[in-house]
Amino acid sequence: MARLQTFPMGGLHPRNIGLDTMSLPIRNAFVPHFLYIPMLQNIGAPALPAVSVGDIVHKGDVVGISSGRMSVNVHTALPGKVIDIREHITPSVDRVQTVVIEVDGDFHLGKAIDVKRASWEGLSKEHILAIMQESGLVGMGGAAFPLHVKYNVPPGKRVDTLVINAVECEPFLSADNRIVIEHAEEIFIGISIAMRLLGVSHCVIGLEADMHQAIERMREVTLGKKGIEILVLEVKYPQGSEKQLLKAALGREVPSGGLPADVGALVSNVSSMLALKEAVVDAKPFYERVLTVTGDLVQKPGNYKVCIGTRISDLLDECGVRQAPGKIVIGGPMMGLAQYSDQVPITKGTSGVLVLSKKKAAIYRHTPCVRCGKCIAVCCMGLEPARLTTDIELGQDAHAKSEGLLDCIECGCCSYICPSGRHLAQGIKLGKLRHLARMKEERGG
Ligand code: SF4
Ligand code: SF4
Repeated sequence: MARLQTFPMGGLHPRNIGLDTMSLPIRNAFVPHFLYIPMLQNIGAPALPAVSVGDIVHKGDVVGISSGRMSVNVHTALPGKVIDIREHITPSVDRVQTVVIEVDGDFHLGKAIDVKRASWEGLSKEHILAIMQESGLVGMGGAAFPLHVKYNVPPGKRVDTLVINAVECEPFLSADNRIVIEHAEEIFIGISIAMRLLGVSHCVIGLEADMHQAIERMREVTLGKKGIEILVLEVKYPQGSEKQLLKAALGREVPSGGLPADVGALVSNVSSMLALKEAVVDAKPFYERVLTVTGDLVQKPGNYKVCIGTRISDLLDECGVRQAPGKIVIGGPMMGLAQYSDQVPITKGTSGVLVLSKKKAAIYRHTPCVRCGKCIAVCCMGLEPARLTTDIELGQDAHAKSEGLLDCIECGCCSYICPSGRHLAQGIKLGKLRHLARMKEERGG
């Protein structure tokens, strides 16, 4: 059998614990009593609250209005009464203005959006971009970049291929796999809209070899469709990363500090294509998403469709978490963010929730580097993680930068493989944050 395509340098094959949820159909999570809807859930600027305390809102109503080009609207998934607007934590930011809704009332969609568009083919590019921003669309692969900005390719850049990322971004997660199995037709419509927007006639849909049912479904719905290619890739982490996927699928290498558009491509997550179809064709705003809940403390692991703004504590009640967790991670085990509170809400960028027992999450002690070179072997960006981390620990940030600090994609492979348990990816991430803070200071805040 011919070897499957993949990216050439580094990477690893962590035990695929995601398999335990791959076969479980998407379930609707229950309706929480309260929603905590942050005004900032995307890269860029926050939305501004469009409601006041005491307002009655309907399902799908705008509760936050975009504040500029790098901002999108925010909606409520459920009806109810606005009981507070205050600062609250999110999975990635400490304090964000948040609209708190006490859920109550009629669960039908608000009047403004209870309508299907007869045909999206007649819509102009500008109109579709406006729908994206109004519907609150952001990339769902993790970065939460506003889609209307991403799809408005800057002058001077030319995109010839759309690459759809159906590769699961982390080992524990399986939501994208289920979305393809259960929504393949709608995804195809989303892809058609995206191709129209970009003016491209070539699209590659990348899936990994263990997603058997998803591969079949995607093949079925794209059979005989011109310009659409289904590409089955080797199962390897971090293939869901934009740069590695482009290398694996098209053999194109994004230059250091560059974007996919620099090599004529645009990458979108498969869940984003479903959200795009729902926004443009069904006039449904982005107010809920599918995510994987798993971990050794979860009695009912699976893929859940969850209202954005649901607190983790409410979700975990439903998933049968009966003991105090040792660690809650938003995202996956390799790149996810550990949380200090279960009061954080699910946001547009939440792809998974991992709940570990105290035993599993036991803090390990790291020991000195034994110079085995394993961290270098697994780095898909060709970096020397041990050296970069030492530079950061010694405060030699300028040297770390010259050694490629900013090229690190924070995949976590180096930390995973290190026999000495060194906190390599964490150290490098700290160095990047320090660099960004310094840049901001130099620009005058
Ligand atoms: S976290 Fe950064 S340095 Fe470590 S393996 Fe990934 S890309 Fe390389
Ligand atoms: S993997 Fe760990 S022990 Fe091996 S060289 Fe890298 S930092 Fe040192």
